Amino acid sequence: MKKITVIVPCYNEEEALHYYYQEMARVMTLMNTYDFELLFINDGSRDQTLDMIKELANNDKRIKYISFSRNFGKEAAMYAGFENSTGDYVCLMDADLQDPPKLLPEMVKAIEEEGYDSAATRRVTRKGEPPIRSFFARMFYKIMNKISDTELMDGARDYRLMTRQFVNSLLDMKEYNRFSKGLFGWVGYKTKWIEFENVERVAGETKWSFWKLLVYAVDGAVAFSTAPLAIASVLGMLMLLVSFIFIVFIIIRTLIFGDPVSGWPSLVCIITLIGGIQIFCVGILGEYLSKVYLETKRRPIYIVKDTNID
Ligand code: UDP
Ligand code: MG
Repeated sequence: MKKITVIVPCYNEEEALHYYYQEMARVMTLMNTYDFELLFINDGSRDQTLDMIKELANNDKRIKYISFSRNFGKEAAMYAGFENSTGDYVCLMDADLQDPPKLLPEMVKAIEEEGYDSAATRRVTRKGEPPIRSFFARMFYKIMNKISDTELMDGARDYRLMTRQFVNSLLDMKEYNRFSKGLFGWVGYKTKWIEFENVERVAGETKWSFWKLLVYAVDGAVAFSTAPLAIASVLGMLMLLVSFIFIVFIIIRTLIFGDPVSGWPSLVCIITLIGGIQIFCVGILGEYLSKVYLETKRRPIYIVKDTNID
């Protein structure tokens, strides 16, 4: 019998967890020709999540859990899940039922019968999401697909089923700054995209504020493209060209008309403009430097405080 590991990252999910388990238990009963392993990753929750997971684990031997020493973020939780998964197939799923467990049979079919290495999901609508958030999300995908070689699918969720081989490839990438949406594409293989309508979370609140999403977007851009560095040099060259033309213009004008003292406002404008561009470019450099800095420290991606896996 094939075994499916379902990785569920949880951060303050006490309200959604029992709904999730109910639904997942239903799907597991339906798919009784498979062994299941439910791997909950408690990502430093501050509420009752861990106690609830432990209670579930006492009553259901299929449940394993790993609890972090603090909140390390969803990327770390996913990585811990991959490292500790034992199934032939591995599935990533949110705990808030925004990733409908009922799609699972279709995903397994894609791998077993249609020859795909992974079955991923994307939502075709963004119903129930603030319009500004949708707008910036769309922009992000448009720009990223222009400046990066790795394809990013708009609306793609992390909800996906993968073969063991696919997961091992993901584990081979040991980088500290993980941007899974990009890593999934980078490893290649054949992926089937399954589309579904956006579902709102059953209970609890989203952990993503607009600010956190913005930082995540910048991280993604830096991790999967070096184009911003090129933008900095192109901007620099353009400025150089413009100022060269300007210098020639001023020299000629002075030779013809002399040098009446005027033009103070325009001077200030130019100085601030160039200053702004310089700081912007230094900022881009800093982004990359900070990533290199963190990467060279070789810190662990997560720290386990408590688990029921031996
Ligand atoms: N999550 C996590 N660590 C975090 C933030 C979120 O493990 O630091 C989990 C969360 O418990 C949920 C999933 O990641 O299972 C997706 O989070 P959320 O529903 O808040 O994101 P959204 O669906 O709004 O994008
Ligand atoms: Mg969610």
